Amino acid sequence: MSAVMVKAENVHKSFGHVEVLKGIDLEVKNGEVFCLLGPSGSGKSTFLRCINHLEQVSAGRLSVDGALIGYREVGDKLHEMKPKEIAAQRRDIGMVFQRFNLFPHLTALENVMQAPVKIRGVGKAEAREQALRLLDRVGLAERVDNYPGQLSGGQQQRVAIARALAMKPKLMLFDEPTSALDPELVGEVLDVMKDLAREGMTMIVVTHEIGFAREVADTVVFMDGGVVVEAGSPAEVIDAPQHDRTKSFLSKVL
Ligand code: ADP
Ligand code: MG
Repeated sequence: MSAVMVKAENVHKSFGHVEVLKGIDLEVKNGEVFCLLGPSGSGKSTFLRCINHLEQVSAGRLSVDGALIGYREVGDKLHEMKPKEIAAQRRDIGMVFQRFNLFPHLTALENVMQAPVKIRGVGKAEAREQALRLLDRVGLAERVDNYPGQLSGGQQQRVAIARALAMKPKLMLFDEPTSALDPELVGEVLDVMKDLAREGMTMIVVTHEIGFAREVADTVVFMDGGVVVEAGSPAEVIDAPQHDRTKSFLSKVL
């Protein structure tokens, strides 16, 4: 495994004529918890989606665990991975969205078993045992046979995290995982994420939960308008921001 999990160098992404990422440089080390803050529309989700091959970078260089996933410079051809390579890399990246995206017709257990069985070819008995372990780990041992519709938002999101972990990812991406939850359910999801962080998972977390970022993040990045405005430790970026845009954003969310 490479010591650097994600490396972005001058990453640009445009949709038509609209440039959404305007030269992102950042580095996420192995085992690091990396929190991405920024106002709506600043390009946070787009950046995560580039890492996960849901979007293709327009220019710059982006690599995950040493493998170049996008590269284009003026006059250069885009470095393109083969579909098989993309699929292989996506299997190693877990993603948790704001909306839980569980399969409504499958129980919690079946939701967690599904990808290992279908995509990794794990045997059902083994997948089931692993799923039970993971659901226990996110505090849902009693709920394994419930359908998503029978679970609260916080419980559904914990199933979604267990489902992502079932693929044994080397990198977890969280895109505002608690933004759709009632306030009283936010803590239980953040607690699961804190456990994961403690266990050494490499995580990129887009969040407005400043308390979580302060407590758990190794690095905090503030993005605005498609650029990184400032990056550093939570003490630097959250408690002693240098830029007016960061200060103004924090004053609204704190
Ligand atoms: P954030 O997650 O920080 O709120 P996004 O990455 O979702 O920001 O979006 C950044 C900008 O990119 C927004 O202006 C959004 O409208 C635009 N955008 C995102 N995805 C697309 C797309 N597929 N096509 C066109 N514009 C998009
Ligand atoms: Mg977003």
